[in-house]
Amino acid sequence: MNSINEKKFDLTLDNKEFFNAYGRNKKVGMSTLGCRVNQYETEAMAEKFIQEGYDIVNFEDYADVYVVNTCTVTNMGDKKSRQMIHRARKKNNSAVIAVVGCYSQIAPDKVSEIEGVDVVLGTRNKGDVVYWVSRVSYEGKKIVRVNDVLKNKTFEDLKIDEYQKRTRAFLKIQDGCNRFCSYCAIPFARGAVCSKSPDKIIEEVEKLSHNNFKEIILSGIHIASYGTDIDGDWNLLRILQEIDKVKGIDRVRIGSIDPQFFTEGVIEKMSKLEKLCPHFHLSLQSGCDETLKRMNRRYTTSEYEKIVYEIRSAIENASITTDIIVGFPGETEEEFNKTYDFLNRIALSKMHVFKYSRRSGTKAADMPGQVDGKIKDERSSKILELDKKLEKKFMNKFLGYNMDVLYEQEIDNDGTYFEGYTPNYIKVVTRCEKALDLEGKILCTQLESTKDGYIEGKLKKFI
Ligand code: SF4
Repeated sequence: MNSINEKKFDLTLDNKEFFNAYGRNKKVGMSTLGCRVNQYETEAMAEKFIQEGYDIVNFEDYADVYVVNTCTVTNMGDKKSRQMIHRARKKNNSAVIAVVGCYSQIAPDKVSEIEGVDVVLGTRNKGDVVYWVSRVSYEGKKIVRVNDVLKNKTFEDLKIDEYQKRTRAFLKIQDGCNRFCSYCAIPFARGAVCSKSPDKIIEEVEKLSHNNFKEIILSGIHIASYGTDIDGDWNLLRILQEIDKVKGIDRVRIGSIDPQFFTEGVIEKMSKLEKLCPHFHLSLQSGCDETLKRMNRRYTTSEYEKIVYEIRSAIENASITTDIIVGFPGETEEEFNKTYDFLNRIALSKMHVFKYSRRSGTKAADMPGQVDGKIKDERSSKILELDKKLEKKFMNKFLGYNMDVLYEQEIDNDGTYFEGYTPNYIKVVTRCEKALDLEGKILCTQLESTKDGYIEGKLKKFI
């Protein structure tokens, strides 16, 4: 505290300079649940703590402050969020615990009642986390600050200047969603669509390029809506075209995207982008039109299928992955079988399967025909089994190919075993004959044999 307290501060409640500096030299452990947007935001919060003199430590270690960045996409998200809060409390009973993100946005009262929670912030005020953490230490009473995100349409510009990892960087370009799929609580947690300004995106991409990042992943809650809320005729395709011009970045990947983004001509234009990775996570959710309608998804299976084939014919080696929900209210055996058959036919390279989770406040929560948990388990297992088969089939197509792999991390600690990803998101694991430093490098690798969920590779060139 020393010099901070000695300095003359105006201790009005809004004096951020004082409160930000209040916890200098303290340790912060951070935990992230859920999506890439949360990962980005945790990294941005970590940077704010570092800028104010805090040290970031592992969440499992002893810390003075714990930040839990929560998720509420399923009941499991809520449960895990609560577990992380308890875990933090066990590590240090007198630590300041700040809970931020989607779960605290939707259920601030429930979260603030959890023993040990000191600060509760929603989804659009994570940028002030250092201030609130320090202020709670000063005032000694619980702070709950959750804005009405349905009214707040401003993009919270959480910028990252110094990424903790130096290989690929998430860049949040958009927040919020106006779609209101009948099962989803996210629009209530994240609010309306708001986009990061194109100038700021390009500025951040240039900075990442300058700092030697090889890949950036554009993420958001509904990135297909990028630009719809800002002036100047901006959309995702246009921002991708601008990013493509930035020198230095090798790869640009896009996060989960609504199939409806791919209107006439978009795929062809995307195929011309040099840096765009041929990997598209097109969220499908169900392969049955009746179920899709109840889900309030705004496309049909035949429209989805057409997009899949168009992408495959326009973009070489394209990988298409998806999310599937099983056991949505009213999903009969016949409807599930339609989904299964559809998935089997379009043969995507990876499927993430979720068992429908009832979210209060959503339309689907009150729908008749809620599906029994055991049936959901069985359906989930069937799709997972299919996924294994299709994933292997997709990977096998590339055996013998030489592909560029961006090596992200070492698996062992002896410098000889690394994992990374091809542009079309095949995980490659490579063992070297001697200790090397492959992290952050893009290297031509021969794809040799398929294993469970990855391919074993061999470096083509000795480095
Ligand atoms: S598109 Fe649907 S599933 Fe995705 S965030 Fe919006 S409401 Fe939720």
